[in-house]
Formats: sequence, C-alpha cells, structure tokens
Amino acid sequence: MRNAHTEKLKGIIRPFFYKLFKQSGKSYLCPICGYQGPFKDKRISKQPDLVRIDSKCPKCASNERHRMMYLVFNEVFNAAETQGKSVLHIAPEDCLKDLVAEKFETYHTADLLKQDVDFNEDVQAMSFNDNSYDCVVISRVLTIPPDLDASLSEIHRVLKPGGLAVIAEIYKHEETKEFGKMINERSREIGIDLIDKIDTVFDEVECFSSNRYDEQYQLANKMVLDGQPTDNFPDKVKINNVGFSELVVIGKVANKT
Ligand SMILES: [Zn+2]
Repeated sequence: MRNAHTEKLKGIIRPFFYKLFKQSGKSYLCPICGYQGPFKDKRISKQPDLVRIDSKCPKCASNERHRMMYLVFNEVFNAAETQGKSVLHIAPEDCLKDLVAEKFETYHTADLLKQDVDFNEDVQAMSFNDNSYDCVVISRVLTIPPDLDASLSEIHRVLKPGGLAVIAEIYKHEETKEFGKMINERSREIGIDLIDKIDTVFDEVECFSSNRYDEQYQLANKMVLDGQPTDNFPDKVKINNVGFSELVVIGKVANKT
C-alpha cells in the first residue's frame, strides 16, 4: 500500500522539478488542482511513435479528458441543482471522484471488475431498479461492452425522470467500427454516430466541445506521430494539424408529467 504522506510530498515536489526541467514548455492552468506551468507529454505507443503533447498535469496527473470533464461538470451541475440528488460514477477515475462526489448528496461507484467500488456491475445489464439515479457519469467505457445498444438503454433505464447521462468517449471515426469480437479488451472504436445513438435512446442531447473553454486549460489532444502532428479524426472533433478536441455528450431523460 502506498504511503499517503509520501504521495502527498511527491505531489508537491514533482511539479516543482518539472517546471525547472521543462522551462521551454508553454504554461497552462490545471482547473482541477490549480497547478500552473508546463504539462507533461504522454507516449501513447512506441511503434508507431505516437505522443500526446502537453497532456498530463504533473501535480494531480489529470489529462485532457479529466480537465474537460471537470469544466463540464462545473458548468452543468451547481450545488443548488444537485442537492438531495444521486449519481452513479461508472469506472470512476481517481482524479474525478471527489469532484463528482461533492456535487451530489449520494455518490455511488460501479465497475465490472475493480474491487474498490460500491458495486460490481455490467453496464449491459445492471442490477439497479429503474429510476435509481439522477445522474450517470461514464467516460471511456463504451468501447468495451459487446452490446453498445444495451449499455445505452441500461444507462437510460437507471436514470430518474429529468436525469442526465454524462458520456465521454474518443471519437476516432465518422462511423463506429464494431470489431465483432474482443480485441485488446475492446469491442469497437467509437464514431461520431454514437451521438445519434444517444439521441435515439435519450429524449434530448447536448454536446459540450472543449472549444468552449479557455485554451489555458489545455484540452486539445495534440497527437504527434513520428514527429508530425496527426489530425485524422472526424470533422466534429478534428483540430487541423493538431489532433482532436474533447467532446462530452449529455443525454437527458425527459421529466415525466
Ligand atoms: Zn492538476
């Protein structure tokens, strides 16, 4: 088990040395922890040589999608609206747990395999009753379950009237590519058509693009392949000669009258 005190010290010392080391880097502001300075690059793969530039906050380890989710959350949920309300955080990210938890009165976590969650659940067939939660947060999960339609239906089913699903994915294509089997623990690569699917299942859909937030938060996924920027992403998220922008989709359940 990691010593919490040592980890806390590392959190202070690491960004200090990192600032000294990467002095030539651009300075950013992490909205989650308040760190100001250069962010770390993240190597996605060695072969091919794929790197995401200025990705990770050296203090809280957040990357583009975490910072984006934080900003969307602060915009969509304020304390008054979520008083007495409940949220289910599926496959919870450590650096977002507190943020999501503090916005709601009841905070539950679920994951198929992880042990440190409240419920072990398969998103394709969850054990919760209908109308159980006011919000479901699910980020970078929908590439995994074999049945995407069932997963979306389940998220909708467990939401109460007026509930919101906060869904974040990497959009790699115009149309979702189904593998027809599991490859590297994934069933598919997500396309922009996922938004249409969400729209079919939910009563209303709202898209939050990272373009709406200040550049200082560094929400652009700056993809560099063999030293060259690569931007072969769908038009909706493509940033020319840079990579792709973050997109969070909110599916809303109508208030029943
Ligand atoms: Zn941070």
